[in-house]
Amino acid sequence: VKAQRGNALCFFDPQMQIEINHRARLESDLQAALAEGQFELHYQPQFTLGGALVGAEALLRWHHPQRGLVAPSEFITVAEDSGLIVPLGLWVLRTACQQLATWQGDPRSAGLQLSVNVSARQFRQPDFAERVIGVLQQTGARSHLLKLELTESLVLDDVQDSIAKMHLLRTKGVRFSMDDFGTGHSSLAYLTRLPLHQLKIDQSFVRNLGLRHTDDVIVQTIIGMARTLDLEVIAEGVETAEQRDFLASHGCDLYQGYLFGRPMPVAGLEALLSPLSQS
Ligand code: C2E
Ligand code: CA
Ligand code: CA
Ligand code: CA
Repeated sequence: VKAQRGNALCFFDPQMQIEINHRARLESDLQAALAEGQFELHYQPQFTLGGALVGAEALLRWHHPQRGLVAPSEFITVAEDSGLIVPLGLWVLRTACQQLATWQGDPRSAGLQLSVNVSARQFRQPDFAERVIGVLQQTGARSHLLKLELTESLVLDDVQDSIAKMHLLRTKGVRFSMDDFGTGHSSLAYLTRLPLHQLKIDQSFVRNLGLRHTDDVIVQTIIGMARTLDLEVIAEGVETAEQRDFLASHGCDLYQGYLFGRPMPVAGLEALLSPLSQS
């Protein structure tokens, strides 16, 4: 259905109205979820090729009272658009740092690193760096065990602001990983200006290793760049032994993916720790 009024063309699309209602509902549900403690962090393990557990990525999960476990792809965008990602992101950071502090108290888990995803809206808050520093102080988590995952588009959106915040946090010991690396537009020149610790090869390239020659080349190039810049390199979305072997033969440092372990509740991750007697 279409109506014309003056120069304005208006489309009345019932599907669009349904979508708008759905979003509004999701938004108010998310607000309630944060207040009522329906969020949880799952942890996906990260390993060396030799099989040593070095850390995990914290991934947000929502236990919806009616819908069950909801994946972030269904709500992160809405949380970002509505601004709710700011308090939600702070909750993630606080929960992750509390977890780090707990792990520090046990010799089997004392060295585990935790990677935390940061959204653009959250990172652009003027007091983002101060907030992170505050959470570290409040929880007692050791800063060098916290790794913040930023995307290229987030960093390049405001390079000056990004560099300033990254440097401030870096001086406090916090590490940075460039998430989904290879999907954005960062040049080697920019990369050298950023106080990064790690490049994370995007799973879209890992998926096609051995199947698409261009992706083989991209992955080799990323690993080479990491070497050149003296950065750690991790592959995400590793699902097969073939993918692992390709990555290993080119010198990839760390591995994350279903082949090694799915995102799991904290008890699952702790079950991967070696028994105290063997450590
Ligand atoms: P991401 O940061 O790229 O996280 C990796 C995603 O790949 C996760 O999806 C993970 O479960 C999934 N994955 C891990 N291994 C494999 C594998 O071997 N194969 C396949 N096919 N997938 C694998 P998840 O947990 O659904 O998260 C999706 C996205 O939501 C994340 O992508 C991240 O961008 C966002 N997200 C998750 N938690 C948070 C959070 O706490 N804050 C923010 N801002 N974003 C988050
Ligand atoms: Ca990530
Ligand atoms: Ca990623
Ligand atoms: Ca991704």
